[in-house]
Amino acid sequence: MEREEISVEFEPVIGLEVHAQLLTQSKIFCGCSTTFGKEPNTLTCPVCTGQPGSLPVVNRKAVEFAIKLGLATSCRIAPYSLFARKNYFYPDLPKGYQISMYEYPLAENGFIEVFVQGQMKRIKIIRIHMEEDAGKLKHGETPETAPFSYVDFNRTGVPLVEIVSGPDIRSPQEAGDYLRKLRSILQYLEICTGNMEEGSFRCDANVSVRPKGQNELGTRTELKNMNSFRHVEKALEYEIKRQISILEDREEVIQETRLWDANQGITVSMRGKEEAHDYRYFPDPDLVPLRVEGTWIEEIRKGLPELPDQKKERFLRDYKIPEYDAEILTSTKDMAFYFEEGVRLFPEPKTVSNWMMGELLRELNRDEREIDQCPVTPQHLAEMLAMIEEGTISGKIAKDVFEEMYRTGERPTRIVKDKGWIQILDTGEIERTIQRVMETHPKLVEDYQKGKEKLFGFFVGEVMKETKGKANPKLVNELLRKKLQG
Ligand SMILES: [Zn+2]
Repeated sequence: MEREEISVEFEPVIGLEVHAQLLTQSKIFCGCSTTFGKEPNTLTCPVCTGQPGSLPVVNRKAVEFAIKLGLATSCRIAPYSLFARKNYFYPDLPKGYQISMYEYPLAENGFIEVFVQGQMKRIKIIRIHMEEDAGKLKHGETPETAPFSYVDFNRTGVPLVEIVSGPDIRSPQEAGDYLRKLRSILQYLEICTGNMEEGSFRCDANVSVRPKGQNELGTRTELKNMNSFRHVEKALEYEIKRQISILEDREEVIQETRLWDANQGITVSMRGKEEAHDYRYFPDPDLVPLRVEGTWIEEIRKGLPELPDQKKERFLRDYKIPEYDAEILTSTKDMAFYFEEGVRLFPEPKTVSNWMMGELLRELNRDEREIDQCPVTPQHLAEMLAMIEEGTISGKIAKDVFEEMYRTGERPTRIVKDKGWIQILDTGEIERTIQRVMETHPKLVEDYQKGKEKLFGFFVGEVMKETKGKANPKLVNELLRKKLQG
């Protein structure tokens, strides 16, 4: 019997698990420092290296930070939660288990709203739990040059929160948007640096595909080892394609953990997926249940800073800028600060926004820089905008000034002075230039005077070229019209 071939459209279903390092000064269960990049094994003690007889004590600040995140993502904070041991062997885990939370996480049932195709989409947060980080293994470059692997326990016991999203994400782009929003919230709260390269913000992805319209979920794989937003998106794209092609061949996707290989741009099988029961979770007998008083939660709630969504609302209200602008400008705390500084010094929000969304972001994106590394300060930008407004420079020259400011970090007044870019407002000088242009093109002047009005633009262009873009365009228009009419 012949099988009817219908092309099925597949949709991806993605859920993300993010590990974020909390910015406490000391570790989660001992007093060791959490400073990044110190000499290996200098920030350790009997507790975080799992010596017999040592006992963990939970860090109050770490709990406070985790509650902050729970509140900021509209989660319910559990009055009681429980630390549990997750048992597994690995050389970077000296105790042979990781202290985490299992059945009773600290926060549950929240959401984050992400701006997707011009609309806010709600992505569920299933749970947020606290746990300790493991150490770090350092492998030799090659087995020949360095036949050993080393272990650094400085990171062991650094506090983490794990944030588990619902399977609500439908594209790699959306996954990236969710991650950027989550990172932004952590940064607004000042509880995590969000630095992916240093590993303080790490993401694993669960991904499956299913025929569009089907409710049941397909078999999923878990992706690991993606250390930038771009890699998360690329890995998901690859994995979705891989799974679709398996299903199109009428084969089955295997549930497993796969590693993203950034060099080859592919995901490779790492191990069969372990189940929760493989870890033999049980409540940690060394730690009492974590009890969080309602009054403490309220105190923390009151102390929350303005978060991205609230800031966006305020920007829309106070500055009357388009929603798209407000979304981008509040996407990081530093960007919002830059904008507000700019507007404070040059109170025309839409103009400041236009320059930030245009020139500024273009330069930053090209150099893969964050706004806190931007050589143009809000003061310099405002100063330049004032120069346009006063007529000292033309809008066209301003783009060159901006580029120069970005390249050198110099003040715009200085650049304009050094380069001699001051706008020509001298009517006599403009008239003389117009005269020269007309003398060079007598035929065209005649044509214009006979009614070929489209030529006007050509003359404007010539005058601007002659003055190297420095003539005031408004004056050029006025004077040119007068002169051409004879
Ligand atoms: Zn320690």
